[in-house]
Amino acid sequence: MELPFVCPVVGRVFSSSRWETRDLAVVLDADGKKCLRGRVRVACPLCGGWHDFAPEELACPLAGAVPDAGEDRNGKGGA
Ligand SMILES: [Zn+2]
Repeated sequence: MELPFVCPVVGRVFSSSRWETRDLAVVLDADGKKCLRGRVRVACPLCGGWHDFAPEELACPLAGAVPDAGEDRNGKGGA
């Protein structure tokens, strides 16, 4: 499956199917919501290196598996 990534070296988006997961797991946060934890590692065709991303950093189907990812972060205030 090809996924979009952003190379932190050149700051450009690329798509790659050469990615792998490290310790990826679904966990429940304090509110009982499912979150993806772990790392996604991808071979970058732009700079030739490898990059690690957290699942929530990816604009991709993996991140989409987490309900409300990237939203509702400011909804509750403190504590
Ligand atoms: Zn790169």
